[in-house]
Amino acid sequence: MTTKKHIPKLNFSTDWSYAPAPEGTDHIQLNQSYDLFIGGKFVKPESGKYFPTLNPANGQKIADIAEGSSGDVDRAVKSARQAYEKYWKKMKPADRGKYIYRLARMIQERAREFAVIESLDGGKPIRESRDIDIPLVAAHFFYYAGWADKLEYAFPNRKPQSLGVAGQIIPWNFPLLMAAWKLAPALATGNTVVLKPAETTPLTALKLAELIQEADLPPGVVNIVTGAGETGAALVKHPDIDKIAFTGSTEVGKLIQTATAGSGKKVTLELGGKAANIIFEDATIDQAVEGIINGIYFNQGHVCCAGSRLFVQESVENLVIQKLKDRMETLIVGDPLDKNTDIGAINSAEQLAKIESYIELGKKEGAEFYQSNMPIPNGGGNWCRPTLFTKTAQSHQIVQEEIFGPVLAVQSFRTIDEVVEKANNTPYGLSAGVWTDKGSKIFHLTNRMRAGVIWANTYNKFDPTAPFGGYKESGFGREGGLHGLAPYLKF
Ligand code: ADP
Repeated sequence: MTTKKHIPKLNFSTDWSYAPAPEGTDHIQLNQSYDLFIGGKFVKPESGKYFPTLNPANGQKIADIAEGSSGDVDRAVKSARQAYEKYWKKMKPADRGKYIYRLARMIQERAREFAVIESLDGGKPIRESRDIDIPLVAAHFFYYAGWADKLEYAFPNRKPQSLGVAGQIIPWNFPLLMAAWKLAPALATGNTVVLKPAETTPLTALKLAELIQEADLPPGVVNIVTGAGETGAALVKHPDIDKIAFTGSTEVGKLIQTATAGSGKKVTLELGGKAANIIFEDATIDQAVEGIINGIYFNQGHVCCAGSRLFVQESVENLVIQKLKDRMETLIVGDPLDKNTDIGAINSAEQLAKIESYIELGKKEGAEFYQSNMPIPNGGGNWCRPTLFTKTAQSHQIVQEEIFGPVLAVQSFRTIDEVVEKANNTPYGLSAGVWTDKGSKIFHLTNRMRAGVIWANTYNKFDPTAPFGGYKESGFGREGGLHGLAPYLKF
């Protein structure tokens, strides 16, 4: 016999509106246009072409950004090669470490400015860029600076040597953090870099270029070439690149793997995901609900490791769904610069259109649809309310495909075997979460999950000392921790 659980309801007469608390923008310094950063200087693109970077919260242009051609990429690679041979390879590792420490300290000093620019350009809530992205950026530089003169201790008896020039291509969801994940280990291991930021979020990387100038890094050690897919493809194809590190979509990851096959270039790919968040009946439900919310709705679901599939044990399914809906009603969708905002702007109009088409598809596939009733800003900007699909099936496209938006698909399960099978039934394998009171259950389950990172009774926690990366179509190679040094070294 099943006993009906009492499901407490929140009182929605509560007024969840807060007085606006926008972060100031008067302390940030942005130019009207940005050139390419090559050989320690900002230089004009050879084509003379620029493209706008927009504020996704109002659709207005923030700045014009240089469009790098294959000729520009070639200039950047040459400058990186020269810097590698002339300065970086010859420098004492401890001195390289000092430069990286210097960068880390400068980022900390300018953290507020970086956080505001990140939210302006990318649409993520200031709370996140201020409390998560930028502190983690500094932490990555600090962490890898420490390894610069200790590589032979990291890989004892293996005589680690740098590769040469690394080409690094990054996405728009964590713009500066992805730059840090890639730059810090590359520099610490003695490589020089050509970095290509995403076309919708280039600003913090270009501000970092200013810091790199101020830090007096030898010219050409870090080069930043802005542009879209074609610029990235030119970098991937360049014959004088020793290593490609890419974070982005599985689709582009596959193109990169094809383009580099047989070239001798080392490659690491961090691609899409469709993470399973699994809640057992013995979990602390309120804590788990908060973890689910954090896992899928914060940062607008623009996270490759977002917990976008929820598996709830059948006996607590109704309770969890009710609590989720109650909590969703309190999430504030709005101005990314407001400190009260939980869900900011969707990064681009194209991304919003993609998310909306998945929402329509979910309805057509027969899943039960629920969206919060909180107001969303009117006027310009790209907004999406937190969205929940219940009564979904494994075969639904909204369960199988990466949406990269604030859309959660819920399924129930009865046994561990069943949930492991369902959770692993995806082309991806980047991350997962498990919520239970029993440590033994955590180990039993996590050993059978095909996911690179599995959080237990928490979600989306990052640390520079912890490796991150996927299985299957989520890519290969690890970033972070000691593991993150190896892809930049030969032995
Ligand atoms: P997302 O779906 O997250 O935008 P993409 O894979 O499209 O992911 O983009 C991630 C990064 O890859 C961006 O910097 C983008 O400009 C770059 N990129 C897109 N197409 C290519 C390509 N064919 N070769 C190399 N880089 C590319």
